[in-house]
Amino acid sequence: MADVEFQKRILTLTTELVDALKGRYPGWGGLIQLNGTPERLAKMYDENCWSSEEIEKELSSQVRVFDDGYKGMVIIGPATVWSLCPHHLLPCEFRVTIGVVPSGKVLGASKFTRIATILGHRPIMQETYTTELANEVQTRLSPLGTAVYVVGSHSCMTSRGIKQPRDNQMTTCALQGCFKESQAAREEFMLSATRRNYSE
Ligand SMILES: [Zn+2]
Repeated sequence: MADVEFQKRILTLTTELVDALKGRYPGWGGLIQLNGTPERLAKMYDENCWSSEEIEKELSSQVRVFDDGYKGMVIIGPATVWSLCPHHLLPCEFRVTIGVVPSGKVLGASKFTRIATILGHRPIMQETYTTELANEVQTRLSPLGTAVYVVGSHSCMTSRGIKQPRDNQMTTCALQGCFKESQAAREEFMLSATRRNYSE
């Protein structure tokens, strides 16, 4: 997903950042370890933060629906999705479970995970991510309902600031259609989603 202008702009800034860090250790032999770091950092941002056009293009090319008469609940997950928190630009690990009740159309099994992964390619809060993922599945598949359950581990909480263990996690949930209206559908999904995440 090479975006030359973006890469150039980011490289200028990562070079500045690494130079500032180097300035803290004048004469230290370990500075050599930072060689090539501005380039690696710039590449990482390009890999992990796609443009809106790239996200839309990936969604349209990856997500195809098929006609099928299956009417039961489909639950898939948890998938692991990496994103960046918009406040600290540090990695967040999301464990994502998606549920749908189809209405005449189904998605290939891997495509749910594909959508979830694509939407993680921008700096985004877990709450926003959860809502956007539910909206995306609901819009593309038009099922009777969509449910998304996300368990997030945030590096900005584990590696800095309050420095919590990794198992201090955040859960978020977005419900649409039948999952919102029917307590039975909601309970069936939530039971499965929580078991999948907390079975060990
Ligand atoms: Zn953060």
